[in-house]
Amino acid sequence: MQAPDLDQPIVHESERDYRSLLASSERTLDDVDRALAALDAGTYGRCELCGDGIPDADLARDPLATTCALHTSGHADVVAD
Ligand SMILES: [Zn+2]
Repeated sequence: MQAPDLDQPIVHESERDYRSLLASSERTLDDVDRALAALDAGTYGRCELCGDGIPDADLARDPLATTCALHTSGHADVVAD
C-alpha cells in the first residue's frame, strides 16, 4: 500500500459536493441580482441580446431568463416540457 502524499490537500467527496453546491448557489444569486437590477432599470423581461420581449410563459418557467428563446442556448436551467 502506497503512503498518502502529504503534499496534496485531502479533499473529501462531500467537500467537493459542498463546493459545487456553493458555486451553483452563487451563480443563482448573481442571476437574481441581475434580474433585480433589470427590474429597477425597466428592462426585465427583455432579451439582453436583441431587446425583444421574453414571453410571459418563458418567464413563468424561468423568472431569471435573460434571453429570448432565439438566443437561449445552453441555458441548463430551462427544461422544455
Ligand atoms: Zn434575443
